[in-house]
Amino acid sequence: ILVCIWSWQREWTPEGAWQPDLVHDVCGHRGPAVIRCGSCGTVVTTHDTDIEMDAEAIWTVTSGARRRSTRGPAGKSVSADMQFNAVMEALGDRWSGAITGLALAGARRFGEFRSALDISPTTLTDRLARLCAAQILGHPSGTDRQYRLTHRGRALFGVFVFLIRWSTQAFPEAPGPLRILHRECGAILHPELQCRGCDGPVDRHSARIEPMLPHP
Ligand SMILES: [Zn+2]
Ligand SMILES: [Zn+2]
Repeated sequence: ILVCIWSWQREWTPEGAWQPDLVHDVCGHRGPAVIRCGSCGTVVTTHDTDIEMDAEAIWTVTSGARRRSTRGPAGKSVSADMQFNAVMEALGDRWSGAITGLALAGARRFGEFRSALDISPTTLTDRLARLCAAQILGHPSGTDRQYRLTHRGRALFGVFVFLIRWSTQAFPEAPGPLRILHRECGAILHPELQCRGCDGPVDRHSARIEPMLPHP
């Protein structure tokens, strides 16, 4: 989860350029990884999967994210250098996290968000406006009543798949469906990180976060 949050901040926020580097020790590649299906080994994005979840399941995922954020905006549990402020616009608030998750699962219309979450219209309007201002959501051209994830928003896919993997392990008795299917192979997605340099697996033992090299 943390590597995916780091990757997103690195690639989609201005302050990302100042974050420490993820280094794959096997090949020396520096930078974000991609996500692959643990069953068939293919690289996956939001377009290759079907997300099955209901409101109960969304709470399980996003309250996990919220609890973690109570450690403070500086993310001190990882490193004082890693600032998670921007990703918290999308995930740190219970409603925003649930709306972003539903959008990843395919929700588009105000009414869909509202009925799935049982949220008041005022609160929903507020959170949708905030997610649009944060450029997580936008309107497809020609419509102002539909909401679609921007490229920036869709890039949160990795954060969500690992949040869901963590949640299903941490809360095995959680109510409601909570799973991601990889359409191509039909398996429930067991996400893994893959190095962009050598296509090898990126994990705790083969990669590390290190401060960026100083400019010459
Ligand atoms: Zn697969
Ligand atoms: Zn590598």
